[in-house]
Amino acid sequence: MNLAMILDMVADGMTDRVLLGGRSGGLTGAGLRARAVAGAGFVASAGADRLVYLGGNGPVFPVALLAATLAGVPFLPLNYRLSAEQLDEVMSRQRAPLVVTDTPERVPGAGTVGIEEFLRLPAAGPAPRSAYDIDAESIAVLLMTSGTTAAPKSAVLRHQHLVSYLFGSVEFASADETDATLVSVPPYHIAAVANALSNLYSGRRVVYLDHFTAAGWLDTVEREGVTHAMVVPTMLVRIVAELKARGRRAPAHLRSLSYGGAKISGEVIEEALRLFPHTGFVNAYGLTETASSIAVLGPEEHREAAASPDPAVRARLGSVGRALPAVQIEVHDPEGRPCAPGQVGDIVVRGAQVAGEYVEAGSLVREDGWFPTRDRGHLDEDGFLFVQGRADDTIIRGGENIAPAEIEDVLARHETVLECAVAGVPDLEWGQRIAAFVVPRPGRRADPAELREWVRERLRGSKTPDDIVLLDELPTTPTGKILRRELVEIVRDGADTR
Ligand code: ATP
Repeated sequence: MNLAMILDMVADGMTDRVLLGGRSGGLTGAGLRARAVAGAGFVASAGADRLVYLGGNGPVFPVALLAATLAGVPFLPLNYRLSAEQLDEVMSRQRAPLVVTDTPERVPGAGTVGIEEFLRLPAAGPAPRSAYDIDAESIAVLLMTSGTTAAPKSAVLRHQHLVSYLFGSVEFASADETDATLVSVPPYHIAAVANALSNLYSGRRVVYLDHFTAAGWLDTVEREGVTHAMVVPTMLVRIVAELKARGRRAPAHLRSLSYGGAKISGEVIEEALRLFPHTGFVNAYGLTETASSIAVLGPEEHREAAASPDPAVRARLGSVGRALPAVQIEVHDPEGRPCAPGQVGDIVVRGAQVAGEYVEAGSLVREDGWFPTRDRGHLDEDGFLFVQGRADDTIIRGGENIAPAEIEDVLARHETVLECAVAGVPDLEWGQRIAAFVVPRPGRRADPAELREWVRERLRGSKTPDDIVLLDELPTTPTGKILRRELVEIVRDGADTR
């Protein structure tokens, strides 16, 4: 199977259903195929070997993705926030790119086409490739990792990985005609690719929100009668704050809200469950390299955990749920043996949707079939996965390995803390010392000495933050990942912290 076959299924099965756009109208299944075919013809006549996308969120995203498929070239969405230097560097690695963008001046030397123009290209014959000409093993999408822990790399996703993700997670044409999904994740992230494909495949109309603000998000949910949405944790924190400021609860028509992409505190989820009484929450854990979600904590599991008097079940609100049926997840010790329940180790995954490959480094899937996620965590007795975070973020203080998440979880439970992050800062005496960065709740004063004592009482003394820095907001990527390198610079620059 390949994405061209998926497009045919969607266009034939939901010919007249509006799949992309607002309540007032948009592209139907048939319209989507016509736009993708026209786009593919344009890509082929330009002689391009890559279709690059440089722009915001919008219906052009799935159209360009499928046009690239029908032209037989990889689709490469780029981060519109890249600096001129970073953009030059990425573009210098492409041989014959065609760029869909409204800012052609940012990609001098490359062939370009405007976003609206790309959506209105006249049809010129059949697509250059039919669904039967496309090899399932050919590259469908290239995605740059965000580079929060290392230099950005281009992750390779082949048709078979994306199709396996779809088949493992979504039922064809299962959505109601009145269902609508609000997509506010940036277009250069795996979540955008996964959202585009899964919504089209299920037949749920996609509404795009280009520039996220909590107020804009809530207003769009109301205006468009949105039934499903996906956000990253920082968005959820802001939406919760906005609802509280408005003294409102989320509307009943919002039936499902997925979140993921980074760790979120159980406190925020508990608060969100109260403010979204009619909404089923889904925590989705996945990586670019695994073609999106590999584990989910579903609505029932959220409700059960929140209502349970058993602390072990309640703790599951902080887990990412269980592996999806089509993938296998284990936690391994340093010798590569499965850890016992509760024991922290390296999270590894295998399954048909796991790509684990980069343009720069080739395949990092091990010979035994497991792909190391580079995340640390543990499984509980019932297979619920708890993700601590990236192994690279581990703090080594005086020889002791400390997971930032352990301290973050304790700090987040303090009543004055809205958001927090913990990072290791170079230190002459200890190798690294622990710095905690705290955003206080609106109208509350967070006291660093009290917060240190709070952690000291609940964890061992060596895990007490050496520095506590109060901030107005945490530096994050638009995909919700905390930029720990920037945090470390704040302390290095000599902020008054103790
Ligand atoms: P890099 O840091 O290598 O440049 P990246 O951060 O862009 O890559 P992504 O594939 O976007 O990589 O993110 C995957 C990572 O995000 C996971 O390995 C995990 O650390 C984190 N993550 C994703 N979903 C969740 C979740 N639901 N809960 C906790 N962490 C998550």
